[in-house]
Amino acid sequence: MEQQHICKECVLIDGSFGIELNSEGVCNYCEDPTYKTANWWKTQITDESKEAGLKDWNSVIEYLRSRQGERKYDCIVGFSGGKDSTALLYKMVHDYGFNLLAVTIDTGFVPEVAFENMRDTLEKIEVDQVIIDGAKETFRKLYQWVFTNQGSGELTLTRNLCDNCGDLVHNLVVREAMERDIDVILFGYSPDEIRRYFYEIPRDEIINDWIPSFISGEPFTEEDRERYFTPEYFENREVPRILLPYHVIDYSEEEIIKLIESKNLVKKGNSSTLKTSCHVIAAALFYDLNRFGALPYALQFAELIRQEPSIRKKWLITLKRLTPMIREGKFNEKGVNITLEEIGMSREELLSKAQGEVDKDPNREKILRNLGLF
Ligand SMILES: [Zn+2]
Repeated sequence: MEQQHICKECVLIDGSFGIELNSEGVCNYCEDPTYKTANWWKTQITDESKEAGLKDWNSVIEYLRSRQGERKYDCIVGFSGGKDSTALLYKMVHDYGFNLLAVTIDTGFVPEVAFENMRDTLEKIEVDQVIIDGAKETFRKLYQWVFTNQGSGELTLTRNLCDNCGDLVHNLVVREAMERDIDVILFGYSPDEIRRYFYEIPRDEIINDWIPSFISGEPFTEEDRERYFTPEYFENREVPRILLPYHVIDYSEEEIIKLIESKNLVKKGNSSTLKTSCHVIAAALFYDLNRFGALPYALQFAELIRQEPSIRKKWLITLKRLTPMIREGKFNEKGVNITLEEIGMSREELLSKAQGEVDKDPNREKILRNLGLF
């Protein structure tokens, strides 16, 4: 029965996130690769742009090699304890022999498993790590603001949080790089994470684009605002490049998990994104599921499936398993509780906020139906 509401080609559900199935049972994204909503659009990657990216990546490797030993660190790798950044760290050290600095941002909402992974990894490979934990209060206020002011638009809370949080994370890493005179920063964003950036975060965005407008008012203080760059900061200074190599080199999630587990960089099972993603996301997923009748993860899974149709079944099973857990508040329950306590909101308040939005939504009937689909 549920099948008729799920896109035949991916896993998106009719009526959630503004998605509609056509008479063939195919969703807007599968029908039209240029389809765009606030929550998802595919950055159009042509073979030429991918080839150009790969060519650039190879020249960056050459560049780093050519001046190896001249500086203390060849480059920075953003290190979160998740599978992708762990594998990228390993690749840069093991395959290329670079001396790099692993930079970790502790937002105060990072799960213990992620830290455990980092410790396990750094026991196996010799890399210096810096943990930046001075901005926890700014992160907390940022999350609190986004949760409290999540509007009635179609943008998911998860997306809204990740975008705002990502900007501050990138900002802090760039600052660290500039203070240490490191000119290349790498992040292990996977190929499905291409909604905002493909391969490189443009210089112009680094300089101009990261300060959220709401930070000018309460409850934010001068201290919070100072964490962000103003364009003046960069005057007469070289802006580091921020590259996302997985967008252009071969990427296989399966291979990555196999690699990091076989090298004992992380314990078996600890490479799951569901275990390493931050606590705030668990609370946001609870809201989004109740607000939109589906998990925002489905948008990402659907993108992966369009890139490789044979994995559809695997992701469908994941959604079937995950959805009831999140609906019942059992998914990272501790993380949800920590988040709600920190931002001063109860589970009931969050749920009733979501239900209030559903009641105003023209797709109300479908959303309520979808909530019980899995
Ligand atoms: Zn589809």
